[in-house]
Amino acid sequence: MQRRSQTKAGIDANDGPPASKRFKAEHEEHVPARPSANNSLRPEFDMLSFPSDSAKDVLNPRCEKLWLRDGNVILVAETLAFKVHASVLERHSVVFGELLAEEDPARGHTETHDNCRVLRTSDWGPELAQLLHIMYDGGTVTFFDRAKPIPFAELRAITLLAVKYKVTHVVAHAVSRLEAAFPIKFDPTRFTDLDYVDGGSGKYSVICKEEDCIGAAALARAIDPARPPSFIASALYYCCQLPTARFFNPVQYGREAAFLPSADIQVCASAYQWLLKADRTVRMPLLYMFEQPLCNDNICTSGVRHMVKKWLLVGRWAGHEALRTSDDWFVEHAEKHPEKRLCASCEAHVKASIDGERAKAFQALGKVFGLQGWRPAQ
Ligand SMILES: [Zn+2]
Repeated sequence: MQRRSQTKAGIDANDGPPASKRFKAEHEEHVPARPSANNSLRPEFDMLSFPSDSAKDVLNPRCEKLWLRDGNVILVAETLAFKVHASVLERHSVVFGELLAEEDPARGHTETHDNCRVLRTSDWGPELAQLLHIMYDGGTVTFFDRAKPIPFAELRAITLLAVKYKVTHVVAHAVSRLEAAFPIKFDPTRFTDLDYVDGGSGKYSVICKEEDCIGAAALARAIDPARPPSFIASALYYCCQLPTARFFNPVQYGREAAFLPSADIQVCASAYQWLLKADRTVRMPLLYMFEQPLCNDNICTSGVRHMVKKWLLVGRWAGHEALRTSDDWFVEHAEKHPEKRLCASCEAHVKASIDGERAKAFQALGKVFGLQGWRPAQ
């Protein structure tokens, strides 16, 4: 896997043939060229240009569903063209508004076709189609419906375009969906292994694969490099839970590769020591109860002793899953050793103590991952 080159699809006299001709050649050869990875997400005005070539030979294929009969702007993306309305683009996107305001025939920057302004972009047509669908009708009325989960790769593509064009309400919605998969406040029922995967069995509105914690952290930085959305903390924690430091590897999304920024790779690598120490601290309440029993019930005392031994043997004080719940381990113990089950009072006490330590560990994530100003949501 390689990082794709950050080529610009804009028109430049010293940069090969005009985009119109390149587009035509690619189309004729049936080699749709996906635009280069654009992880900076800064509005890249130089990726749009207005050559003087006639638009007539490059407007097809049209996106029929977004070729609106009374549209007055033709967007020509890679592999697709759209006829839409300037007022709608301006309403949703500051960037489109600025591009349309640049119309200045005297500067030779305007291309028209059939009385429509033509804007060219290097965006991948099907992805731009999704963003335009959302602008017009909420993405066939599903994008804003949380009951309908969306694959992370799809949400990522829409979000990157929305950031590029500053479609802020789409970015905000994407962030709120991601906050379900990558929580921004401590939830004692969460962080059981990689529980964001597959939408948490249908509970979350984003369907993630294991490696999407890397994609999510990279996306958070793409949204705002300096002050990323809060879900980045959980995403980075999950990155540290991947086997053999997989966060060093890029994640492929189509032909694009998403990387964790090098600063985040460094903090993840250095977080291991803290996570190891925190994981030990989180499980300590069981050890304290072993040293100082809270009740005189012999069965309960025997059960605590048994659990301490088991946790030591299987390395439950030597991991780096500081946020992981222990509840399932109590269930496991009770099921396997009903004759050594902890009394209800002691079990509730130790589980609550462990959850208290987990909450403290969660609160420390901002500091651990170097996220300035990060605070858990209340
Ligand atoms: Zn007890």
